[in-house]
Amino acid sequence: MQFIQGLLLASSSILYIFFAYYSFRHREVPGAMSLGYLMLATMIWSVGAYFELFAPTIEQMIFWRNVQQIGVFGVPMLTLSFAIKYTLNQPLTKIHRYLFAFPAAINLLIFTNGYHHLMRSGYDVVESAFFGKELIVHATAFDTMLVGINFVIPLLAVALFFDFRRKIDVAYKRQVTLIMLSTLYTFVVTALKMSVFPTLGIYISMSVLYIPSAILFFLSLFRFNYFNLTPIAYNKVFDVIQEGVVVINKRMRIVDINPFAVSLIASEHKIAVGKDINTCLKASFQFELSALTDQMTTYTLTCGDNRIIDMTYHPIIASEDIVGAVLLLADVTGQKEYEKFLIERAYQDGLTGLLNRFGLNYFHTKHEGYASLIVCVLDLDHFKSINDQYGHLNGDTVLIQFSDILRETFADHCETARIGGEEFALYLYDQTIETAYHRIDAFRKRIEKHVVLTEDDNAIHFTVSIGMSISETADESLKLITARADEALYAAKNANRNRVMIYETNIANH
Ligand code: GH3
Ligand code: MG
Ligand code: MG
Repeated sequence: MQFIQGLLLASSSILYIFFAYYSFRHREVPGAMSLGYLMLATMIWSVGAYFELFAPTIEQMIFWRNVQQIGVFGVPMLTLSFAIKYTLNQPLTKIHRYLFAFPAAINLLIFTNGYHHLMRSGYDVVESAFFGKELIVHATAFDTMLVGINFVIPLLAVALFFDFRRKIDVAYKRQVTLIMLSTLYTFVVTALKMSVFPTLGIYISMSVLYIPSAILFFLSLFRFNYFNLTPIAYNKVFDVIQEGVVVINKRMRIVDINPFAVSLIASEHKIAVGKDINTCLKASFQFELSALTDQMTTYTLTCGDNRIIDMTYHPIIASEDIVGAVLLLADVTGQKEYEKFLIERAYQDGLTGLLNRFGLNYFHTKHEGYASLIVCVLDLDHFKSINDQYGHLNGDTVLIQFSDILRETFADHCETARIGGEEFALYLYDQTIETAYHRIDAFRKRIEKHVVLTEDDNAIHFTVSIGMSISETADESLKLITARADEALYAAKNANRNRVMIYETNIANH
């Protein structure tokens, strides 16, 4: 019996040495280093058990029993370490290295027990039918408590795998289940070994019982490539992507949320797994999702602090049933501001800030359903001679001040634009020709009186000629009305300038 036990321990030691060596050689495989250390600890356990079996004196037996404790306390913590690395658990990764203080301290206490007797109160050697001589260690209450804690550690690893399994894609669930089960196996076998096995007369060292678990880990890692990077990568993307991701279930409760979504949604209101998504959205955006639909939809949400968030709703459908949804959130404030800036620049005249031709067309289309439209074309009189007399820069100042007055005078139900060098357009919506004429002529008179002061104290007076035309039917083309206004302007120029002329009527005079 002693011989069989020895054979099992020796062969398991060799197996673990091989696994450890192979793992360290393939350290590029994720998780390989952790597995290597795990195999090393198991190997130490087996070797210790082997030498204890054949130790001639009680001192040597105690020494080799102590060596085994490196494995006894190392394996659970290394399993947890492996689980932390594999699931990339962020908070635990930070404290990961400190966890090893626990087995290290215990081993230190065990090896120095002769000085303080904190761990063991004594030893006995009994004759055993199975082992020949067997070492009985009388553990202190303190040691028993530490063993208890140690016993629970693999359960934490199982919990980590379990939580990870919930989050990842269906395709990877099986591999995580296997890893989780092999961890659970160790836990169960340890429990059985401590309780049921001795009463059944089964005496096998734990390091031997660990073999199936080790083989499964090993094959998963190197043979079946179970420890695929993809699920880890998915999780990593989820954590670091600069886009908010929220997963909600059928009952609109948050099932998962990434850090970026938290930063986007929750300015003052707490948002977390388990909360109702609408409570959070309502608080930050005065927005609520209605019942889940099977249609992908994009919403634009605005926040009190002027942020604009684009939220895309993607339903999750399983067996023709909507089981939940993924919400993708992006902060588009900067993008929208830039778009606005570009649109303004594309539609605006650089010198005067009035609309240009494109802008005029664009904003004209926004005045839907008007009953009448009056188009005016305005042209500064003898502008060339203003340039000639006062210089181009002063000419620019005249254009700017003229534009300011034009914009200020015609603000509501109007569009004003610079459509050429010193040529402007004015659209008036839903006004009678009489009212419009009086407003425009008043404007002309204001321009006539306006004085532009140059830097060298010259006073520039200038005038404007204006042609007006009214749309006769609603569907009349803008081109035609503008052509008529041009004709009226031409008439105004010919009638000695500084006047308003209405196309084909006789209202206009000076
Ligand atoms: P009319 O009364 O017949 O309209 O005579 P006018 O001199 O105003 O007309 P004309 O078309 O001969 O000249 C327009 C002038 O406007 C010519 C051009 O140098 C000037 N001009 C065009 N764009 C600008 C500008 O952006 N700044 C300045 N300072 N002058 C400009
Ligand atoms: Mg002119
Ligand atoms: Mg002109």
